[in-house]
Amino acid sequence: MDRTQGSYCYRAVMMGTDIELQLAGHQPELARQVFRIIQQLENLLTVNRPDSQLMAVNRAAGQHGVSVDRQVFELIDCAHQVSLQGGCFNLAIGPLVKCWKIGFSGDSVPSPATLKSLLNLCDPRAVVLDRQRCSIFLTRPGMEIDAGAIAKGYIADRVCGFLQQQGTRQALINLGGNIRVTEAVAPATAWSVGLRQPFSEHGALLGVITVNDRSVVTSGVSERYFICGGRHYHHILDPRSGYPLDNDLLSVTVISADSVSGEIHSTQLYGMGLQRAGHWLTTRHDIEAIFVTRDGRVVCPSQRQFSFRQTAGMPVTG
Ligand code: ADP
Ligand code: MG
Repeated sequence: MDRTQGSYCYRAVMMGTDIELQLAGHQPELARQVFRIIQQLENLLTVNRPDSQLMAVNRAAGQHGVSVDRQVFELIDCAHQVSLQGGCFNLAIGPLVKCWKIGFSGDSVPSPATLKSLLNLCDPRAVVLDRQRCSIFLTRPGMEIDAGAIAKGYIADRVCGFLQQQGTRQALINLGGNIRVTEAVAPATAWSVGLRQPFSEHGALLGVITVNDRSVVTSGVSERYFICGGRHYHHILDPRSGYPLDNDLLSVTVISADSVSGEIHSTQLYGMGLQRAGHWLTTRHDIEAIFVTRDGRVVCPSQRQFSFRQTAGMPVTG
């Protein structure tokens, strides 16, 4: 715990990442409760340990459906509906993620034939949900759900819900760069969130986002990756080709009311590339984004729910 600018900061390493909770006063018991909630939710959603609810679903692939907690079901149902739209976001991407192992030991470039054979196992139409029984059935053996792109957002939303229930108005939860802030007490004390320069070794910032009661979530190519044969392979995979997505963007930061839709749309928008994503944003007034492009630009099409001040240019490399 340390104290910054009048707020108290509690830290932990969980879900393989740094977690930070900022509260307006010294509230160690509340912080303990928050970290307990995070642990419980991770236990339900992780696919990196055998005992989670989602792993029970994955183990029963091709055999039978598995009933899960109502809230897990709702999350998967929402992710499933988006996956069926045919964009980049796909909750059934598990077999590809497990094959590439990006961000884990043993990462390697699979053969084109291996990737092609796995695409069929990543078809969201082969996921069958039964709302009454809260059950999830992966109808083909070898299918796997992966909640890696949305779990942190879901947990951030649940933590915020809990804090609001407790009457806490001024809090920030940062799950490894996925940030959600509650309402600050006065606009003058709105939260400042740094926008990182992708690949910067020392966490250099490109700018500062000032925001209140919102989620700020980033998807990008510099979070988890490996280099092989001089090529860079990052962890957001294209469910149509099986390879990491390759376009004109380095990162997309989404500002939205809740963090699950921030997470879903950061992956979707990243997959669209700058031009299509910019157009899509004109159709949605609840979602805003800041793009960092491969050619060194920071593009911020609108600032309705936040303000953004660019503090540095990005050196163009490569
Ligand atoms: P981070 O985990 O760094 O916050 P993201 O939220 O962008 O990054 O999620 C990336 C994770 O999502 C990957 O590590 C993988 O588990 C999963 N994933 C990869 N590609 C896709 C995809 N096309 N659709 C949904 N999930 C994906
Ligand atoms: Mg995400």
